[in-house]
Amino acid sequence: MMNTLLLSPDEENLLLAANALKDGQLVGIPTETVYGLGADALNENAVRAIFAAKGRPADNPLIVHVADIDAAMPLCEIDQRSRRVMEAFCPGPITLLMPKKPCVPSVVNAGLSSVAIRIPSHPVAQKLLRLSGVPVAAPSANTSGKPSPTTAQHVYDDLQGKLACIVDGGACQVGLESTVVDMTSPIPTVLRPGGVTPDMLLTVLDEIQVADSVLRPLKEGEQALSPGMRYKHYAPGGQLTLVRGDTEKVQQLISRLYNEAQAQGHSVRVFAFEEHLSAYPGMETASIGRLSEPETIARQLFAVLRQADADGVEVLFSEVLPPEGIGLAVMNRLSRAAAFRVIDANQEELP
Ligand code: AMP
Ligand code: MG
Repeated sequence: MMNTLLLSPDEENLLLAANALKDGQLVGIPTETVYGLGADALNENAVRAIFAAKGRPADNPLIVHVADIDAAMPLCEIDQRSRRVMEAFCPGPITLLMPKKPCVPSVVNAGLSSVAIRIPSHPVAQKLLRLSGVPVAAPSANTSGKPSPTTAQHVYDDLQGKLACIVDGGACQVGLESTVVDMTSPIPTVLRPGGVTPDMLLTVLDEIQVADSVLRPLKEGEQALSPGMRYKHYAPGGQLTLVRGDTEKVQQLISRLYNEAQAQGHSVRVFAFEEHLSAYPGMETASIGRLSEPETIARQLFAVLRQADADGVEVLFSEVLPPEGIGLAVMNRLSRAAAFRVIDANQEELP
């Protein structure tokens, strides 16, 4: 096993990390969405090492990160529509699927015709991309099956010994993976919701559609629009159930289910909005952020899930938020973490 360096983002360390990338090594990179496990996208062996380190199936394509639109041009065909989206939202938490050019090795995009391109806004990611001068293929820097990492320590916990270094850029601002938009379909299609919402996209596009599997499981035999949608997503060690309905009914039902699970000897935890914590007196709770500021929920969700695993919690109940704005991305990740287990408190009979 190699010795993984945890680096502060000073000039000297950034040069060291940039050189590691140029050398074909793996580097943990902070971005505004989540931490990435990066390697030179044009170096096939380096890209293969990403899949090996994560335990990621080879048919799940990677996102290629570049510093700006000019650096994307050798990699993909950017039509007028895509350019409008890029000019409006890049750098930022959005990934565009566009037709691939031949220089990108097919190991990066699992042999598909499109390649996923993202321009991160995090200043450390920007500096690393410019210093290294190479496009960087990077999936989230977690072990496959774990929540995406939002701190350098999360990356270290999952992957130490499997990468050259991790640059510590602090906690991620957005906290959820980028919005993935397929720009190759007749109507641009959101395959994965993220920090750039469909409403935001509509300010520069005439139409947008959201893949309807965003908030439900794929049906038996249904073709996934994006390979990543096929894979089982992170599921906590404990069993998570989402409870929806009128606020008061949700709180009553969660309290009842909490007490039942506890009476059976389980360790139990409630994921509640900051504003609702006092509705669960005497129960173990974790704040998932403020309902009035849903971006705070996006920012801390993965850390809260990781903490529940670290604490060995067996049974979890969570409040839910409307799937609007950034709430759509939050509910997409929460629904998957709960394996789509949702109870409607308005339809449950309370004793
Ligand atoms: P990750 O890098 O782990 O955040 O995952 C990237 C996501 O983008 C996965 O869900 C991939 O399946 C998806 N993706 C990347 N490239 C393509 C592509 N060319 N076509 C469809 N989906 C893609
Ligand atoms: Mg991932």
